[in-house]
Amino acid sequence: MQTFFFDLDNTLYPHSAGVTEALEEKMNAYVAQITQLSIPAATTLRQGYFQQYGTTLRGLQIHHNVDSELYLAAVHDIPIEELVIPNGTLCTLLHSWLGQSAVFTNSPREHAVRVLSRLGFAEHALRIIDIRAVDFIPKPHLQAYQRALDTMNATAKNAVLFEDTLVNLKTAKEIGMRTVYMQAADKQVHVPNYVDAVYNDIVSAIQVESKEK
Ligand SMILES: [Mg+2]
Repeated sequence: MQTFFFDLDNTLYPHSAGVTEALEEKMNAYVAQITQLSIPAATTLRQGYFQQYGTTLRGLQIHHNVDSELYLAAVHDIPIEELVIPNGTLCTLLHSWLGQSAVFTNSPREHAVRVLSRLGFAEHALRIIDIRAVDFIPKPHLQAYQRALDTMNATAKNAVLFEDTLVNLKTAKEIGMRTVYMQAADKQVHVPNYVDAVYNDIVSAIQVESKEK
C-alpha cells in the first residue's frame, strides 16, 4: 500500500497564489528587526540560511537564538483566505486516500490547518507532520523523513513525496521514496535525475500517481 506525503506550500496550492511572496516579506522584516540590518541585507542573510539549513528559522535558531514561537506567529500572519483558492476537486480526490496521506511541511501546524481549511478539507481530515513534529530539524535533513515515515507506519519504498522544493526531493530519493516534483507553471527549471515525475497541477499529480504501483 502506498503512502502519500504532501508538502504544503506551493504543492497543495499553486505557487501563483503568492503565499511565498507574502511569507518572505514577513520573514525579511523579521530578520531585519532582530539583526538591525537593512531589508536587502536581511533578505540576503535569510536566503543563505534557507539554503544552508532548510528553513530560515533553523538559521535564526542557530545564529540568533530566536524565540521560535514568536517568529512562527509573526511570519505566518498573512491573508491566506485572500490568497489561496478553495479546491473542491482536490478534497474529493484525496478523500479515499486520507488514511494513507499526510501533510509533511516545514511550516507550523496552525499555518497548515489554515491552508487546508481554506482549500476545503474538514478539520483533522489530513494528518499534519509539521516543523515541531520533527523537532525543528526540517526537510531536507534525513531525520525529518524518518520521523514522517514512522508517524505513518510507512516504509520509504512504498512512499511518495509530492514537493515543490527540489532539494527536499533529493533526500527522499536517497532513502528510496518516489519523488514527485510540483513545478510552478511559470517556472521552467532543469529537473534533476532524482525526480521521478513532474506535474504542474496537484490534481493531475494525484490522479496519475494513485494509479502507479
Ligand atoms: Mg513547498
